[in-house]
Amino acid sequence: MATILDGKACAAVVRQGVAARVAALRLRGYQPGLVVVLVGEDPASQVYVRNKDKAAQEAGFAVRTLRLPADLAQSELEARVRALGADTLVHGILVQLPLPRGLDAPAVLRCIPPEKDVDGLTPPNVAALAMGEPGLFPCTPLGCVEILERSGIPLSGAEVVVIGRSMLVGKPFALLALERHATVTIAHSRTRDLPLVCRRADILVAAVGRPRMVQGDWIREGAVVLDVGINRLPDGTLCGDVDTAAALTRARAITPVPGGIGPMTIAMLLSNTVLAAERSLGEPAHGA
Ligand code: NAP
Repeated sequence: MATILDGKACAAVVRQGVAARVAALRLRGYQPGLVVVLVGEDPASQVYVRNKDKAAQEAGFAVRTLRLPADLAQSELEARVRALGADTLVHGILVQLPLPRGLDAPAVLRCIPPEKDVDGLTPPNVAALAMGEPGLFPCTPLGCVEILERSGIPLSGAEVVVIGRSMLVGKPFALLALERHATVTIAHSRTRDLPLVCRRADILVAAVGRPRMVQGDWIREGAVVLDVGINRLPDGTLCGDVDTAAALTRARAITPVPGGIGPMTIAMLLSNTVLAAERSLGEPAHGA
């Protein structure tokens, strides 16, 4: 039977480390500030934002959620984000996606100064990741790397297959894994014979958004499986992109849903925010 990689426990350790760094900054009179911009009333976004807010408060950040109406004009939203960019008390800005229909998310993201872009989605940070240079990188793939490293699972030399090529998860994870010397395949909806491709993986990452799509026989005996998917079933329960029950009999280790990559994502948001605050003070870089 596979080991369960406990994202909640791993995230708690990351969050403790972040809280210690925040405390050290506060002793010197600086409190890292995070603002989450929430436009509209999307129910899932409301839950995510509440969780981020709570975690940031617990770690000692000055955090607030800027709630804006769904019918806000693009120009007004961009002006609000630019104002946050100019505010020296704000070290991290996160615009919760997706934005309501009619708003241009890439244009809004471009208004965030890259050094405050704690979601790692602005073009300069995407470029830094591609070029292997320091920056701020997306939280979910950072969480995937962190849980592997803290579980003693090396990426170097590993065959990694990531299913999904989004800017939020699949592509940045592939680049982070490549930077750590993995051999990486990115699969997507046009990939031929996906089960065969997946069976190559020492480390299989599923970031698709299709409940239990990855079957047990897609997983090589002894592989490590990171299940990024969060899918709500008709009965209200959550499940990932992997058929966990089947995977447990094949894999060496697997992240559960919930309690796997979700908590790691929040922990890495906090980690990015304290890193942004430290860098704004000219501190030596930790981590990424
Ligand atoms: P996304 O932007 O919708 O991307 C999904 C990717 O899956 C696309 O690249 C798509 O391929 C690929 N795909 C779709 N159907 C496929 C199929 N049948 N076979 C192979 N590939 C297929 O989603 P995302 O934002 O990356 O998120 C993916 C999942 O992770 C979602 O369930 C989301 O809720 C979850 N998520 C979790 C966290 C967390 O904190 N745990 C954070 C972010 C996202 P094409 O490009 O060819 O269309």
